[in-house]
Amino acid sequence: MNHKLQKVSQWMKENDIQVSFITSPENVFYLSGFLSDPHERLLGLAIFQDEEPFLVCPSMEVQDAKNAGWNYEIIGYSDIDQPWELIHNSINKRLSHVQKVAIEKEHMNVERYEAITYLFNGATFVPAEEKLRKLRMVKDEYELKTIRRACELADYAIQVGCEEIAEGKTELDVLAAVEYALKKKGVNEMSFSTMVLTGANAASPHGTPGLTKIKKGDLVLFDLGVVVDGYCSDITRTVAFGDMDDKQKEIYDTVLQAQLKALEACKPGVPCSEIDLIARNHIREAGYGEYFPHRLGHGLGISVHEYPSLTETNSLLLEEGMVFTIEPGIYVPNVAGVRIEDDLYLTKDGVEVLTKFPKELQTIK
Ligand code: MN
Ligand code: MN
Repeated sequence: MNHKLQKVSQWMKENDIQVSFITSPENVFYLSGFLSDPHERLLGLAIFQDEEPFLVCPSMEVQDAKNAGWNYEIIGYSDIDQPWELIHNSINKRLSHVQKVAIEKEHMNVERYEAITYLFNGATFVPAEEKLRKLRMVKDEYELKTIRRACELADYAIQVGCEEIAEGKTELDVLAAVEYALKKKGVNEMSFSTMVLTGANAASPHGTPGLTKIKKGDLVLFDLGVVVDGYCSDITRTVAFGDMDDKQKEIYDTVLQAQLKALEACKPGVPCSEIDLIARNHIREAGYGEYFPHRLGHGLGISVHEYPSLTETNSLLLEEGMVFTIEPGIYVPNVAGVRIEDDLYLTKDGVEVLTKFPKELQTIK
């Protein structure tokens, strides 16, 4: 078994869990190497303490799972099969008595929950997600290498976006050019819906790009990410189109200094809350506290939002090998919206910033 599956089996032994049945595509990928988007169909990975694991997937994906390097049993089911019966048979071949089953309670829907409780009548069901979130928090070398590539492409996307900015172009014009350029580089998927926001729209942390035209004196905010081999990047840059007034410059500089201070403080053993508060207090002291309405950052990997969560109350300690974002922002309605977001890797004594597009205010003439 691979290292990640072994850790799950170990956890199951410690907690007297006989079966883990993992159903979210992200965790199935993390543990098996098989990246699948099964749509509404069932995808599952069964893990045991000592017996061999098995995958269950639509039969048309069996070959893909093998190609992904999965060397154990695969149950492929057709659209007229009953996958739960097949799962039951495969588990019964390995174990006769199941008392405790771990499932992802947040992911499993009621229909599937009813099916699995029917199969393991009388068993207790415990959540698996917290353990998996902790395992996924620290990245191995392969994961880091993959995220690095996703970050390089995110930098490239920002560069394309900046070159595309011109008087009268809409947010969606620029967005389309960015995604077109990425597709030509072989990028199949973005981490989330790309954001290009300008003027008043940039003052909304989660705005929707539309037909607003870019005009001189506006800030343009890009927030985007690229998926490479199942791993995400996530970058935000805010650039100026033409000259900025003093207020806009002050807001930009406050966000930048907050971001740099937080980056400098990141080290193994420091609580997440401390990092959030370093940036938050800098913004508060500048008088913009109420305009920074979200956490400082989040882990990323297979999901664009995962552990650790950098909030002002999370006492979790940073650990070498974590990959997360630092993304302070100030959004003052009708004045300016600025966010600066980097992805970073926590080393044994500090951080390596993986997104490298310049952060000093870039002015596009
Ligand atoms: Mn982002
Ligand atoms: Mn983010």
